[in-house]
Amino acid sequence: MRIDEFLDDFDNLAEAHQAYLNELRAVAGQGGFMMGVTARFAEWAQSELFRYSHVFANSGRPKDFCPEWCPDAFVFLGEAGHRFYIRRKNGSTAIVLDFDLLCRLVLFVFFVGLDDESDIVGQALAAFLLASVVVPRTEPFPCLEQLIESCGQINPDITNGLFTKVARFILLHELGHSYYERHGSEFLHVAFELPPNTVPKPDVVRSIRYHPDGPVYNQVDLAGSANGLLIIPPDFRNWEAEFAADVFAAYASLYTSVGTKPGPAQLDHLTESLICWQLVLFAIGNRQDYMRAISNDTQQIFSHPPASARVDVLLHHLNFIAEEFDPTWRSVTISIFKGHYNSLWSKELLKLVGEVIEYVRYAFDEEGPHINPGRIVTFIKGMDVQAKPSALTKFGKYFLEPFLQQSELIGWREAGQQNSNEYIDYIKTFRLNGRPIILELAERLHGIGVRFT
Ligand SMILES: [Zn+2]
Repeated sequence: MRIDEFLDDFDNLAEAHQAYLNELRAVAGQGGFMMGVTARFAEWAQSELFRYSHVFANSGRPKDFCPEWCPDAFVFLGEAGHRFYIRRKNGSTAIVLDFDLLCRLVLFVFFVGLDDESDIVGQALAAFLLASVVVPRTEPFPCLEQLIESCGQINPDITNGLFTKVARFILLHELGHSYYERHGSEFLHVAFELPPNTVPKPDVVRSIRYHPDGPVYNQVDLAGSANGLLIIPPDFRNWEAEFAADVFAAYASLYTSVGTKPGPAQLDHLTESLICWQLVLFAIGNRQDYMRAISNDTQQIFSHPPASARVDVLLHHLNFIAEEFDPTWRSVTISIFKGHYNSLWSKELLKLVGEVIEYVRYAFDEEGPHINPGRIVTFIKGMDVQAKPSALTKFGKYFLEPFLQQSELIGWREAGQQNSNEYIDYIKTFRLNGRPIILELAERLHGIGVRFT
């Protein structure tokens, strides 16, 4: 279902949304797993929005937020050109979410966190999913629908929980854009230059570094808070809306997970969500960096990616959130999150992702024995894989499809264990300059240590 048609055809977004839901329900009523999932999810997302409005109107709001704000917004989930965005029309907001991209992100997070050392299929899927998000291509991700179904069978609680966490972040982030456009960013405790009349002395302008490989920021005192004002490099000024939308999402998620004033349990819950959110920001952020690199300049693309600054800004605001709601809050979840953060945003992983981008751009579609010789080691022994349009297509057609058939019969875990060594040999055939690049990324992503239990 193409969303832009509904947005173009109606002047009134409420009517557009009603027409969209009617058609979605009608199509879902004709059967089909994916349309059913989309319909359920679209209704859930809209009811979440109503709930957020209700909480903001009745149960209070964080202190720096505008009391007049009322989210007059409608969620459209479907085909949206692989993007998440908002569109304003006659005073209301359409939050437009591409369902395919949402599914890829949820699957990516799921497979990164799959708690099985020997599951090379899941790990390879995480690598391919990340590559498919970072380098946008027209080809569909193979077996997306069956993969969603399989995840639901491997662990229904985790799958549902991840859908909720990832979708909530994206929803609230987009809602944050609409808030920011109307009410600005008073709640954002960052600046892009030192405040005027700041004395440049070390006890006034302190250095702070969140990530060992990340930039050194400045910080100055902020009146009325034990936490300081974070000074971000001026180049990041045009990212202010993104920073604001992320921080909005953090506050809003805290408030809307309970009807009352948040406490330590909600702070823990927020931190758990951040574990997923930073994986999403990593995938989306690398894609944005890549798109910027091919569209304009290529300077220092992977040295200080803005996406890591987005997580730094979130971390910075976690201090304010703790100060506002529970100054004594200490959490093991924070240490777990920090462990993932250190691993995820390290220079060496960003370099590897850069090499994977190179692989997808230059070698994915090549034919010939020097790249992806891809012998079918498992299913049709001894036969070469045909050089099909892309490495991903080959992976889907000659590996994933038969694997999923097998897994339907005997279970995912069993299917994976049965031939794991042969699978590893197969994944190794996706190579860049002789290096098994997909396997390297797969193992590295697993090594971040995200585990959902
Ligand atoms: Zn945004």
